[in-house]
Amino acid sequence: MLAVEKKDKMQEECGVFGIYAPGSDVAQLTYYGLYALQHRGQESAGIAVANGRTVTGEKGMGLVGEVFADTGKLTQMQGHIAVGHVRYSTTGSSTLVNAQPLLVRYRSGMLAIVHNGNLVNGGALRRELEEEGSIFQGTTDSEIIAHLVARSGEKIITAALPKILPRLRGAYSFILMTPDTLIGIRDPHGIRPLSLGETQAGYVLASETCAFDTVGAKFLRDINPGEMVVIDKKGLRSEQFAPAAKHAMCVFEYIYFARPDSNLLGKNVHMVRKRLGRRLAQEHPVEADIVTGIPDSSLSAASGVAEQLGLPYEMGLIKNRYIGRTFIQPAQEIRELGVQLKLNPVRQIVAGKRVVMVDDSLVRGTTSLRIVEMLRRAGAKEVHVRISSPPVIAPCYYGLDTSSSSELIGARLSVPEIARAIGADSLGYLSEEGMLECIGLPQVNFCTACFNGCYPVEAEDGCCRAGEENDGGCAGCGLHV
Ligand code: SF4
Repeated sequence: MLAVEKKDKMQEECGVFGIYAPGSDVAQLTYYGLYALQHRGQESAGIAVANGRTVTGEKGMGLVGEVFADTGKLTQMQGHIAVGHVRYSTTGSSTLVNAQPLLVRYRSGMLAIVHNGNLVNGGALRRELEEEGSIFQGTTDSEIIAHLVARSGEKIITAALPKILPRLRGAYSFILMTPDTLIGIRDPHGIRPLSLGETQAGYVLASETCAFDTVGAKFLRDINPGEMVVIDKKGLRSEQFAPAAKHAMCVFEYIYFARPDSNLLGKNVHMVRKRLGRRLAQEHPVEADIVTGIPDSSLSAASGVAEQLGLPYEMGLIKNRYIGRTFIQPAQEIRELGVQLKLNPVRQIVAGKRVVMVDDSLVRGTTSLRIVEMLRRAGAKEVHVRISSPPVIAPCYYGLDTSSSSELIGARLSVPEIARAIGADSLGYLSEEGMLECIGLPQVNFCTACFNGCYPVEAEDGCCRAGEENDGGCAGCGLHV
């Protein structure tokens, strides 16, 4: 029997890309942009193109290269505007009907939508729309937007959006495309990233700036929280559809999600991670022989730890990069083999050594246990685990696949107990204060809810989720958790 293993990391929901560039091969450029954003989602991919009259699209399950393996698909997609999407499913199951772009035809024309994030009131909006007769094909928030636009009574999309966007609550970065217009939207807290770039022929929108480098675009600026940018033949214009609320970009973008060569709020992700590593080593020094990181997201922090401790930074663990979506998870009895297929220690490097193993986060702890065991089997004398973020104690409601509090090891156990549970000789987490100092921007810019339970947008039932349920309900607002 095959076992489905829950991933032991926060999982990002999506990467979005959009381009308005008359005279360019926009489908091909979107394909390259999605390649750069592939780390944000590997379950499905899709591209839609507009040519002034109509919108057409292609999408499928799998990696970008798999979905568009037949290059003929791309060459047939001619136009001057395109949007693209890579998806990791959180809300909505992993099926083709939930893959994006979502293409809809309604009385005012055609629309393609891609989005990243999660509406905390998505369930309530969906129920309301269903009661009024709307029919949903899939379970994504993009469909909710499509129905709201269609029902707005406005013929022009740019008039419809300012009416409906204030109804959305939660984390969302949307890119919409009509036959002649590209629109980028970021929620009033700016929880998920969205940046604006420029090519010689026009403009580009993307979840991360690394996609701009890939398509030869120049970074212009981040889309502001609560901002809508509209790009059409008249150029680019901006509208603030809602007053910017407390800026609360997901701090996990720096820790784990974003590619190291991306910049967020003007800070390079690799450089931030390296500082996290240095600070981590200052907060939790240890006598050891080598430092190694878990590829790929922990390598920048590991190099910072090594620098600070004055120890060699070694490739003690090698990742197999060719395990795709269709990888068959081994049954329980050979589960260790499964981990070893993905990650393998280099015996010659770790044998007889006191190893500092750096990871960017610890969610359930199951993978850490296996990696520590693996390093010991490869001959490591001691394994000291260092985590370049604080303990994850609360789930995320904004589009990231985290467990309920009961599955989060940081919510259940103390640090010494976690060290014992994962078999480490010692364990040290970076402090929240240290993390924010390393980013170098005021705390008010970030959502740090999974580390402290303080959510910038309350969940659908109105609960702030500040604390576990106790006799009086939620410790923060008194409502039932
Ligand atoms: S709860 Fe955590 S993972 Fe979710 S948006 Fe906030 S910081 Fe990011």
